[in-house]
Amino acid sequence: MPADAPITQDLLTIPRKMPEGALPNLIGLRREAMAAELARIGTPEKQIKMRVGQIWQWIYHKGATSFEDMTNLSKEYRALLAENFSLTRPDVVTRQVSKDGTRKYLLRIAGGHEVEAVYIPEKNRGTLCISSQVGCTLTCSFCHTGTQKLVRNLTAAEIVGQILVARDDLGEWGKPAGDKRLISNVVLMGMGEPLYNTDNVRDAMLIAMDNEGISLSRRRITLSTSGIVPEIIRAGQEIGCMLAISFHATTDEVRDKLVPINRKHKIAELLQACRDYPRLSNAERITFEYVMLKDVNDSDADARRLVQLIAGIPAKINLIPFNPWPGAPYERSDWERIESFAEIVNNAGYASPVRTPRGEDIMAACGQLKSATERARKSAAQIAKDIEGL
Ligand code: SF4
Repeated sequence: MPADAPITQDLLTIPRKMPEGALPNLIGLRREAMAAELARIGTPEKQIKMRVGQIWQWIYHKGATSFEDMTNLSKEYRALLAENFSLTRPDVVTRQVSKDGTRKYLLRIAGGHEVEAVYIPEKNRGTLCISSQVGCTLTCSFCHTGTQKLVRNLTAAEIVGQILVARDDLGEWGKPAGDKRLISNVVLMGMGEPLYNTDNVRDAMLIAMDNEGISLSRRRITLSTSGIVPEIIRAGQEIGCMLAISFHATTDEVRDKLVPINRKHKIAELLQACRDYPRLSNAERITFEYVMLKDVNDSDADARRLVQLIAGIPAKINLIPFNPWPGAPYERSDWERIESFAEIVNNAGYASPVRTPRGEDIMAACGQLKSATERARKSAAQIAKDIEGL
């Protein structure tokens, strides 16, 4: 396949050929798929449901990293599992801790690719920001990841694996239900566009929601999209988590530049998809993310237009002071500008907290993530063609 072959949807989801000798990974399989694998190795039919339950608990409630750990299974069965399967998690290449407590993990996955995940501890909650692609299909001009061309989609195992690795690091395994959780929220706001990898993101989040394992409530999972309109409703129906929109502009002219997918799905179409999002209500609002870029999208007129555009949508607005990265073509808005913008939005009745930049000292803040894994540079013309083909 020529290096500059256009990135088509099926290319993104070609099942990876297992590295020679690699055993199928039980992590990332939904219960039905795990049951089918256990049946394939000869597990007696009437035991399969129970075995799936036991193995599930070991992986997602106790954090087992080897079949040997699974002591409520017979030695023979553990040996059979170890002969046929793996429990592969991403490898931690580096773990950086910011002076504000934020932790950034650089993780290596199959093929030697690297992605980043970030843990943000706060007073009453702990949020894990996870990635869904190596690099990104899109090239949002304010985002560091956007300068890293897409290498590939993450598998469901690599997506849920980020939660497993962070739990290892935070010692979060085996806690009795009701105990304070360090990872109380998961946001798909790391590297990549989750709705260009919907199947794997869905499987990983449904595994994370399963109440016999990680048991995260769907309302504690937020999927952030730059506006892949055809997939938004589907995500609501098949995942049912909270939705965030990487919005960042109030005119198509400006959004075309900041979030190129807008050339394909304009603001009006995107907002209609938001109005149609399943389970939308005052208790389940959509979050509109708005990066504050100096003299680009931060005027009072922008603020007034923003509240007009989303009128009638149960929503909250996150104002994100731009986090610079090497070579970034923008500056952060002045704080007075951010406060004036927030005041207009607040007065219109929208909670619009200004997101405090976290982990800046370790390049872990919003829009700063990028790994060294690079795909052959693609020409601007090729990117435009890819976007056209999306
Ligand atoms: S903001 Fe999201 S969709 Fe846009 S380039 Fe960055 S990671 Fe990709």
